[in-house]
Amino acid sequence: MEEQKIFIGGVWRRGGGYRMQSLFPADGSVNATLNAASLDDLQEAVACGERAWRDPAWRERLPHLRAKILHRVADLIEARLDELAQMQSRDNGKPLAEARGLVMSAAGSARYFAAACELLEGELPTPRQPDLITFSRYEPLGVVAAITPWNSPIASEMQKVAPAIAAGNAVILKPAEATPLMALELARLFEQAGLPAGLLSVLPGKGSIIGDALARHPLVRKISFTGGTSTGRHLAHVAAEKLIPASLELGGKSPTIVLEDADIEQAARGICYGIFSSGGQACIAGSRLFIHQQVYPALMARLLELTRGLRIGHPLAADTHIGPLINAQHRDSVMAYVQLAQREGGSVLCGGEIPADPALAAGSYFQPTIIAGLTNRARVCQEEIFGPVLVAMPFSDEADLIQQANDSVYGLAAGIWTRDAGRALRLSERLEVGTVWINTYKVFSISTPFGGFKESGLGREKGIQGLKAWMQQKSVYLATGNGVNAWCD
Ligand code: ADP
Repeated sequence: MEEQKIFIGGVWRRGGGYRMQSLFPADGSVNATLNAASLDDLQEAVACGERAWRDPAWRERLPHLRAKILHRVADLIEARLDELAQMQSRDNGKPLAEARGLVMSAAGSARYFAAACELLEGELPTPRQPDLITFSRYEPLGVVAAITPWNSPIASEMQKVAPAIAAGNAVILKPAEATPLMALELARLFEQAGLPAGLLSVLPGKGSIIGDALARHPLVRKISFTGGTSTGRHLAHVAAEKLIPASLELGGKSPTIVLEDADIEQAARGICYGIFSSGGQACIAGSRLFIHQQVYPALMARLLELTRGLRIGHPLAADTHIGPLINAQHRDSVMAYVQLAQREGGSVLCGGEIPADPALAAGSYFQPTIIAGLTNRARVCQEEIFGPVLVAMPFSDEADLIQQANDSVYGLAAGIWTRDAGRALRLSERLEVGTVWINTYKVFSISTPFGGFKESGLGREKGIQGLKAWMQQKSVYLATGNGVNAWCD
């Protein structure tokens, strides 16, 4: 068990806040103990950040030299891939193979934003008047807040920190209370890569205290948040009061649609991965399944077979598909949803329980669960469960399908399985979601914008826009003639 320090203004030190722990969800053992950040720590982190981003040595640093830091971070991550994946698995219980994927994606994000930072160009609009040149350039915002959840720490943190740094800001990262380790390790990587002190501080602690105070701090010029919709709404209010931008990546209840001409094997495997990987603890989990009635029996038979074959097990075992959920309290909430589904008239076709295996008794495990017999109006189809629970529903009419798929407060993602690409594209236009996957699910590209419609969020991360979202545009007018303003004549 290791005593962790926190990282403020380039210095590692004991936090001034309450004692907190990172626990291994597989058995509840303690990964690390630390003191959370206090409100004084926050003040100091912001003050250091403010000095650091304004320092001409940083402000005027050429983009390729800023990029170099991000490339070094990526090199360090790749060199320590296995170790970092283990740390990530210990922090939140994700199976090692998935954790490796997230670590690789963090390295990829660092490289992408290094390149984007070098390639970023201002704009040279053609003015509508003679004798003028106008241009518009992108400048940093200042001190910015990144507030992250526990489900994909290193990946979601890098998705914010890399573009924020590439853009020239100072970032204050507030990781989820359950998963402080990866964020602190990220700080170590940036420090080793030569990031000047103060440009990144990491403040573990309670969201309602340190996260809230960070968002409200007068010098914090942007809030980038990934997490639950109610917290996101709260932060949107805080941002509105301060008139600062908020980028919010929130919950989801994503529909997956199987048309009658789908490749059943391809669809069943993709759906299984889309809902059950990460134990369903993903905002994009494909948790509502609409299957054309012609292929309902065949698809369900294969999906149930695949689901029953998933290996629930220790996250550090190489062949585990589904590790423990983040903690027992969350597992209980998932179980309560399954019971609710049954009270609403649903039948549990597989799973629905805590696994009986005594080897798993110390962890917060839950079986992958498929429920049928409900309509889209059931609460389990309307509320985000954030666990391995899929509700399957047959459909026959496409107009009705679209109405049901869109009948949600959320609008994060959707999946379509069909051999007819044209039909899939037409359907994709009618789905009110930020991402549509066709004949695949839960794959990502760092160059492709990501974010939600409706209550799934505001703003986009990734892509060149994902860099510009951490900047503000300044337009400059230069008069090329010698004209004198006639107004005072
Ligand atoms: P999740 O369901 O993913 O835990 P939350 O929205 O509760 O979703 O948490 C996501 C992140 O937001 C965490 O880092 C958490 O500590 C932080 N957080 C929670 N409440 C607040 C708040 N009132 N203000 C700022 N941050 C918060």
